[in-house]
Order: sequence, then structure tokens, then C-alpha cells
Amino acid sequence: MSKTVKDLIRSIVDFPHEGIVFRDVTTLFADAEGFRMAIGQLLAPYKGERIDKVIGLEARGFILGGAVAHQLSTGFVPIRKKGKLPGAVISEAYQLEYGEAVMEIHDDALTPGERVLIVDDLLATGGTAAAAITLCQRLRAEVMGCAFVIDLPELGGRKVLEGLGMEVHTLCE
Ligand code: AMP
Repeated sequence: MSKTVKDLIRSIVDFPHEGIVFRDVTTLFADAEGFRMAIGQLLAPYKGERIDKVIGLEARGFILGGAVAHQLSTGFVPIRKKGKLPGAVISEAYQLEYGEAVMEIHDDALTPGERVLIVDDLLATGGTAAAAITLCQRLRAEVMGCAFVIDLPELGGRKVLEGLGMEVHTLCE
């Protein structure tokens, strides 16, 4: 029997800190059939919908989002951690377990009314994706959905994003 997307994700215990189980998608990306399957499943709900741009969240969201954008024939826009984008940006801070993180988008990356799809590898608390949604909305784009390979349901990210009125699409838990 052929492997599923979930079968191809590796779990690394105590990375990057003790007590964290890191869900490593590099093993999925390295598998030709698995990577193609993951991209196909990620974009399936949006086929036939008008999507103007795919937004990828640093860093694994770039790999997934780039492939999804190519398949949907849309543009691709990165949302990056603070200080990485070269042009003028807008920023959004959000809370981590310890401290704060900041995500940024180029201030001219989206035009008002554009319909975007946000893509990342994993949904945990939803903080990163919520910041990305806010950035897109501040540029007056319409967020059509958020797609992730992995959902960690015990961390409640889906509820957070659905509370913001978002449609959330995930491939496995
Ligand atoms: P959150 O903002 O809490 O939803 O965290 C999502 C972001 O953190 C994503 O960009 C993930 O790549 C990363 N992340 C959080 N938890 C894990 C984990 N257990 N394994 C791999 N990546 C994770």
C-alpha cells in the first residue's frame, strides 16, 4: 500500500527544546510522490475558485506555497520574520509562549480586493497564521482560506482562525 502524507512526516523529540515534538516535513518534501500528493491535497478545495495570490509563511510555507501557487497559476507572496524583507513593510506582532514574534509583508505585495490563500506546514496555536491574516487584511486583501499540512488540535489554532471567520483546511492531525 502506498504511503500517506502523514506516514511521510517524521517526529523529532525534544527539538528545538526539551518537551517539544517537532513535526518534520523535510521527509515529506524529499519524497516525490508524497510531495506531489501533499500539494494536490492542499490546493484541492481552491481549484475552480478565484485566487489571485498564494501567501507562504516563513520558512516551510515558502516551499509549499510556491508549489501551490505554481499549480493554481497565481502569484506568490512571502510573509517573513522581522528584518528579512528588503523593501518597505508592514509588521504584526504576536505572542509566543515566551515573548513575542513579528511577521512582515511588503507594503505593496497585495492590492485591495485581491483574493489570497495562506499556506504553511503546521497549525499549532494559530498565532503565526492570525498575524498573517491581519497583515493581508491591512492591505485590504480578502483571505479565502488557510491551508496547512498538519493540525495540532490540542493547541487550538483551528478554533482561533475559525473565530476570525476563516476557512481552515488541514491534511492530517
Ligand atoms: P503557531 O503560531 O503556534 O500556530 O505555530 C505555527 C508555526 O510554528 C508554524 O510556522 C510551524 O512551522 C511552527 N511549529 C509550531 N509547532 C511546531 C511543531 N511541533 N513542529 C514543527 N513546527 C512547529
